[in-house]
Amino acid sequence: MNYKEILEKVMQRVRAEESLGKLATYIPELGNVNPDKLGVHLATVNNFDLGIGDNQEKLSIQSIAKVFSLCLAYKMVGESIWKRVDVEPSGNPFNSLVQLEADNGIPRNPFINAGAIVICDILISKLETPKADFLAFVRDVSDNPKLEFCQKIADSEKSIGYRNVALCNFIKSLGNIENKPEEVLDFYFCLCSLEMTCQELAKAFLFLANGGKKVSDGKEMLTKSETKRINALMQTCGFYDESGEFAFEVGLPGKSGVGGGIVAVYPNNYSIAVWSPKLNPKGNSYKGMMFLEMFTTETEASIF
Ligand code: GLU
Repeated sequence: MNYKEILEKVMQRVRAEESLGKLATYIPELGNVNPDKLGVHLATVNNFDLGIGDNQEKLSIQSIAKVFSLCLAYKMVGESIWKRVDVEPSGNPFNSLVQLEADNGIPRNPFINAGAIVICDILISKLETPKADFLAFVRDVSDNPKLEFCQKIADSEKSIGYRNVALCNFIKSLGNIENKPEEVLDFYFCLCSLEMTCQELAKAFLFLANGGKKVSDGKEMLTKSETKRINALMQTCGFYDESGEFAFEVGLPGKSGVGGGIVAVYPNNYSIAVWSPKLNPKGNSYKGMMFLEMFTTETEASIF
């Protein structure tokens, strides 16, 4: 497969398209990002690694961090994690409150905000120093000791995070949050503020394309079965109420964030990260989805 040629061809086409999306200005700091950024990076399990455009610039990974927090919590507590969060697509926006009451405070899945907040609660109960331990896990999986949170973005989100505050308090009232909501939310905003480049994201997600083992040194981060489950959740729940559309158009498990990043994984083959900050009405990167749709069409390969 000539990935280089395909990446360049798709990049050229996507660059020429007008982006109909909008920046995620509800987090004030994300409104200051250059809307025209466009980067992509591909990393394969055979050590091929190529990026184009703004692939080496940091982006706010936002909800993509929820994959790392889920992996860490799953590794620590095992199958009992599914008593606290379900594994069903929500069919609702990422910050929706509506299903929680009917579901008794058990969020539909770990990738909607409600579910990610419960995962943060689990980690706070289990870890001595949650922020540092979480960062150490992401640095380990990425082979990159330099990764950092962005305090400015975390503070910016905290200043307007009313819906997440509401979600956390509501779940607490229904008995599915053990720790203080302020503590849980502080951790949640912090992990969403993690900054990574497309290159770092593609490399960090490669273990999910490699049966749970890091490609660099073979270290097992998750078992094969656990990896299957994380990928299944990304496939069914990784794009909020557009997860069906992403499966339909792209055909790979993945996760998006409101910073405009998307990472997708092709098991046994590659992981690919795309960044374009303008979002479609469902909160997923407009050009990011377009890029990945064209990429899997051109490579004629997807999990389907
Ligand atoms: N920090 C964001 C929020 O809670 C994450 C949302 C996302 O990236 O989808 O609103």
